[in-house]
Amino acid sequence: MLGQMMQRPLLIGSLLEHAERYHGATEIISVNTRGGKTRTQWASVGKRARQLASQLEKMGIQVGECCATLAWNNHRHLEIYFGVSSSGRVCHTINPRLFPAQLQYIINHAQDQVLFFDKTFLPLVAGLREQLPSIKAYVLLDVADEEVKAQLPKVLFYEELIAAGDSSYQWPELDENAASSLCYTSGTTGDPKGVLYSHRSTVLHSLAVSLPDSLNISARDCVMPVVPMFHVNAWGIPYAAALTGASLIMPGSGLDGASLLKLIDEEQVTVALGVPTIWQGLLGAIEKSGSQVPSLKRTVVGGAACPPSMMAKFREYGVETIHAWGMTELSPVGTVNALLHKHESLTVEEQHQLRLSQGRPVFGMELRLVDDEGEVLEHDGKTQGNLQCRGHWVVDTYFHVEHNALDDGWFSTGDVATLDADGYMNIRDRSKDIIKSGGEWISTVELENIALAHPDLIGAAAIATKHEKWDERPLLIAVRREGHEVSTAEVLAFFDGKIAKWQIPDDVIFVEALPLNGTGKLMKNKLREQYGEYLLQKTADSKPSKM
Ligand code: AMP
Repeated sequence: MLGQMMQRPLLIGSLLEHAERYHGATEIISVNTRGGKTRTQWASVGKRARQLASQLEKMGIQVGECCATLAWNNHRHLEIYFGVSSSGRVCHTINPRLFPAQLQYIINHAQDQVLFFDKTFLPLVAGLREQLPSIKAYVLLDVADEEVKAQLPKVLFYEELIAAGDSSYQWPELDENAASSLCYTSGTTGDPKGVLYSHRSTVLHSLAVSLPDSLNISARDCVMPVVPMFHVNAWGIPYAAALTGASLIMPGSGLDGASLLKLIDEEQVTVALGVPTIWQGLLGAIEKSGSQVPSLKRTVVGGAACPPSMMAKFREYGVETIHAWGMTELSPVGTVNALLHKHESLTVEEQHQLRLSQGRPVFGMELRLVDDEGEVLEHDGKTQGNLQCRGHWVVDTYFHVEHNALDDGWFSTGDVATLDADGYMNIRDRSKDIIKSGGEWISTVELENIALAHPDLIGAAAIATKHEKWDERPLLIAVRREGHEVSTAEVLAFFDGKIAKWQIPDDVIFVEALPLNGTGKLMKNKLREQYGEYLLQKTADSKPSKM
């Protein structure tokens, strides 16, 4: 016997309709590319998204076709998110920090029809346009601009398009399994791969991330996604904000600590989300300014391991850090760290310790560990294994790729982790980054967390370097805090007592800056290329010459 309840499709358009209807006056504050702020509300986002959708129809962009964006976090990008997807087209957000050849590959692979772009990216767009045959229209996200027209003669202007659009446009009743948006993985090895999200997966993800033990988003929040809208849909925050009726603060292109701090204090941000490198900048700015960030209650940190020292620093300002783990293939949230009822009786120190890990799966996500032969491993908090997951918002097959991304119904994340009986997960490493020394594994994440707790270091990357006897040994590449002259011996001594002796790096190389990829992650493959044989060379150089 079937249940007798209504069957309403889970659609992105319904998220927007809810926000328009019940949170219409809630503000969306957006920093413009030209400086200054724009204040709009959910009602206006809804109206303009419909105007945009009506124009896409007029332009002949078909349902199911992709519309690309090269844009910062701002209100127009938000309108595109909803206008494109709710009308049945696919919103393809592109990371402008990728190399031009990768951008070209991605746009052609997705067969994007329209390219919306912020003026910052005009040189990139102008340089690429000859190689983008599928693009029918280029749209500048602004009012008419003669300078842009001179470089891109057929460019359209977003504000003109919206002004001529139809605000009474009705969202179609789509199949909830229809494609809604598209993101490509950052592709550190090989071509980037597309992950095609559906309306259903997006709405379920939004529900899951809004929960109190998840990212905890509500209508009482003023949420600032610093994580870019071109990086896995800003972790789904635009959709979760519509679902909950939260106010959004969009920081535009000003992602430096001082600009973020100003925005947090001026707009009373309660929750901010981003990768650790962003928060390093913010914490520096807070320290300099003396602000106590009184409105800020929570920061969500993910995309890379959050160093414990960062959590402690945020605590000094009364800010709780929520550590989350995810990936493009999961749109992106997989686990979030929150305590359980049974943990309330623990000491504050013990609770802090538990908050360090990447957390537990939210409903809709299952995790397991397997060994290299695919045998399922124990979840005892100690055994390390290859992390696999499955769930309502996990990729099944990559976009326009024949073979399934799955292994026996599970997606292999490429991460090495431990899981305990309560489901708390500890990411030990990416499987290709982990160091195998004398048959034992050393977690580079752990080494980096220790190094980053050193007051004179502001950056650290641990990598495997080849070793005659142990096969691989850890090497630390570190960035000193300006004006500090900490030595190799001092850094290595800092590891004493914090990990087993044999896990301490063999050496430290100081550099000015670490190589980061388009999403702000350490490019360890670049460091391995450069320093992967460092110890072998050092030993060879120190051996007396036989001649
Ligand atoms: P991306 O698809 O670019 O978002 O990258 C996903 C990868 O980032 C994951 O597979 C992890 O290796 C890494 N990652 C994301 N969040 C965390 C975290 N909280 N701690 C450690 N690694 C993380």
